[in-house]
Amino acid sequence: MRNGLSKDLIARVLGGAPKYTLDELEAKFPARKLPEGAFVTRFAPSPTGYMHLGGLYGALIDCKLASQSGGVFMLRIEDTDTKREVKDAVDIIIESLEKFGLKYNNVPEYGPYYQSMRKDIYHSVAAYLLEKGMAYPCFLTSEEMEEIRQKQNAAGFATGIYGEYARDRDIGEEEIIKHLDNGEVPTIRLYSTGNPDNRIFCKDAVRGSISFPENNEDTVLIKSNDRLPTYHFAHLCDDHFMRTTHVVRGEEWLSSFPLHVQMFRMMGWVPPLYIHTSTIDKIDEESGKQRKLSKRKDPEANVAFFLEAGWPTEAVIEYLGNIAASGYEEAKMKGQVKSFWDYEMRPKKIPMSGSLFDMKKLEWWAKEHIATLSVSDLVKSVVDWAKEYGSDDNKKQVSDRDYLTSVLSIERDNPKRIRKDFITWQQTLKEVSYFWDFLFVPNKEYEFNKDVLSEFLSSFDEKDDKDSWWQKIVYTAEKLALKPGDVAMNLRVAMTGRTNTPDLYSLMQVLGGERVRERINMVL
Ligand code: GLU
Repeated sequence: MRNGLSKDLIARVLGGAPKYTLDELEAKFPARKLPEGAFVTRFAPSPTGYMHLGGLYGALIDCKLASQSGGVFMLRIEDTDTKREVKDAVDIIIESLEKFGLKYNNVPEYGPYYQSMRKDIYHSVAAYLLEKGMAYPCFLTSEEMEEIRQKQNAAGFATGIYGEYARDRDIGEEEIIKHLDNGEVPTIRLYSTGNPDNRIFCKDAVRGSISFPENNEDTVLIKSNDRLPTYHFAHLCDDHFMRTTHVVRGEEWLSSFPLHVQMFRMMGWVPPLYIHTSTIDKIDEESGKQRKLSKRKDPEANVAFFLEAGWPTEAVIEYLGNIAASGYEEAKMKGQVKSFWDYEMRPKKIPMSGSLFDMKKLEWWAKEHIATLSVSDLVKSVVDWAKEYGSDDNKKQVSDRDYLTSVLSIERDNPKRIRKDFITWQQTLKEVSYFWDFLFVPNKEYEFNKDVLSEFLSSFDEKDDKDSWWQKIVYTAEKLALKPGDVAMNLRVAMTGRTNTPDLYSLMQVLGGERVRERINMVL
């Protein structure tokens, strides 16, 4: 420890007297009244204008652990990096969580939930540290720090402000006053007492206890330009006073884990239990190797991609849930649970390394999901998607909701034989496009048997039930010495332009007598 600063000097150093004492903060944010074992988690994105699939994965784990334990899931906006701020970024985050069905509960008692609005809290904790000699004002300029860095590089030492390089670590009040009188605004640095020759044990719920060399860097707690906290200091204050029990965050934070544990201990606070999640990977098409999803190369790295292309958000969640809790798929297949939300996930089983997100596998989850939907839910999803993201053609397709409903009702009445060829809302509309004359593409390659078509046409009656309709097909086949299947195929291609479709009778019913005649006549 170093000598603490006087109250007056602390106020000058921080640009204002602290609003709270530590005791007042403890009283202001009391322990939460929750059932034993309840998880308090938070999704804490920085508003960068983009929501990464890995972010959604973490938020899902947060939300699931909180909801299955009767706890609380919060959304905290980490907007202390004012240089990186992007317009609408917060709206994108909120909208994504809503669309993917992740509900957070930001009760006012533990807010505010924007870090930029929590300055009073950070400054109050910083004041405490300055008073106790656990932090100090540092007046190094960026040029001076650059010089230090070069010296360290030349000598082959670790870079950073630590030990003998931390020039202002032990400066006295007089010198501090001189700098302040000079109009300089300091950063507030941690007065680190860690020794890298010693090891510190940090507990991760998945990895167990991990040992690291102790941190000896005098890390910046409060920046000088805007007097806002760094991630490290904000994390300490927020997760303590918001009473977070579990911090789910990306494995890129493992390297600063010892610093965080050091700070919690220094404050005499119990750290939350950490869950460092692995990156979300894919198999690179060129090299065939597994690699991290790249914001630059992979459209699916951005969750907006799934919304725009009309992937069922539930299917994306189901698949991400299965990545986080690998036993889920089996439990679902055995009929033990209906959705990921019913499955009890275990934090210990969250994967530690490179989790694969495979678009082909997602297709399977999407098909399975869509097959469980009622016609009206299917129609609603398709219409909502088309209105928000669809092309002009898609919008026309959904303009007559009754017709769309009959189209999508085909092969949905027998629960054992629900069609499973719908994957996304966009692809669904493409799959059934032949039902609309303006999208119907006649098949120019198929060698029609025109006798079949004219024979069938002469007896066709749209009021026929399925049996009579089939009798007419059989009759046509017999008359022309063909198989009924050949007749059906000629009709199928004439109706749809395709050789593979769902139930022919149903689709002809939906097309209606007039269109059926028109399409046959078109071929003839
Ligand atoms: N704002 C940090 C990030 O976006 C949050 C990390 C955490 O969850 O603590 O990576």
